[in-house]
Amino acid sequence: MSTYVFGHTNPDSDSIVGAISLSYLKNQLKEDCVAARQGEISPETKFILNKFGGKLPLLKTSYAGEKVYVVDTTDLAILPNDILEATVLGVVDHHKLGDLTTSTPLECWIRPVGCSNTIVKGMYDYYNVKIPKDIAGMMMCAILSDTVIFKSPTCTKSDVEAVKELAKIAGVEDFKALGMEMFLVKSAVEGASAKDLVKRDYKEFVMGDSRVGVGQLEVVDLTVFNDKKEMLFEEMNRVKKDGALHSIIVLLTDIMTEGSQLLVVSDDESKVEKAFGKTLENHEVWLDGVLSRKKQVIPFLQPLF
Ligand code: MG
Ligand code: MG
Ligand code: MG
Repeated sequence: MSTYVFGHTNPDSDSIVGAISLSYLKNQLKEDCVAARQGEISPETKFILNKFGGKLPLLKTSYAGEKVYVVDTTDLAILPNDILEATVLGVVDHHKLGDLTTSTPLECWIRPVGCSNTIVKGMYDYYNVKIPKDIAGMMMCAILSDTVIFKSPTCTKSDVEAVKELAKIAGVEDFKALGMEMFLVKSAVEGASAKDLVKRDYKEFVMGDSRVGVGQLEVVDLTVFNDKKEMLFEEMNRVKKDGALHSIIVLLTDIMTEGSQLLVVSDDESKVEKAFGKTLENHEVWLDGVLSRKKQVIPFLQPLF
């Protein structure tokens, strides 16, 4: 029986590539592992898979009775509903420790770096396993994505070193240019539905007795959203109502000017105002320097609930 390797719901490039890179490593270590995913992939991930000839992981959302490795999260809210009925053999993650618990001992690789694939790179080194060229290219892109080409405050020296080594293996000379090409793909929001945009990189968090949804769209120029805000707010209201959320926030992140415009739909906007020490205007506020949901948004909201 195969073991499945997968990341969080609404998979980002780190979750998809992490499933691919970790399952390959495990296969080299004579564990029968299959890369899986919990949902559709983003245009950015599609670009990465096309660029390096990566295979799309298997779509699978139910894991009762299966053995699994989890990458890029330990939060139950963004794991399969039946994850507690699976045997979790290990986790590889770079987020705050979540609420996943296990009934058996597990392998645990959790480090405060910018990307799960930086940790997976370290695992390859630890086990002395050679990273294939295509997988190295994908891992490099996942790290460039999660660290916003090293601009995010989540980025560490380990991430930069990993990218440099992976670029060499992948035969990519100008990795920053490839990173920009990737973010241009990510910035193409024309033609996308409001639903697709709100949910593209969306996570729900349990804060006190409330649930808060936070989506993020990273682009190279915020003007692409000028004629889209109204439909984004409409969709946010719908998602909030359907999910009985306390708040839903969408971060429109400008990776060039380095900051985020927050769109907020909330039962109590003052919580958001207190969290960031700013006043909302028409349910919006600009936060200079904010690029990371994980490091610069969630930790400030959480204590207010
Ligand atoms: Mg992720
Ligand atoms: Mg990640
Ligand atoms: Mg991210």
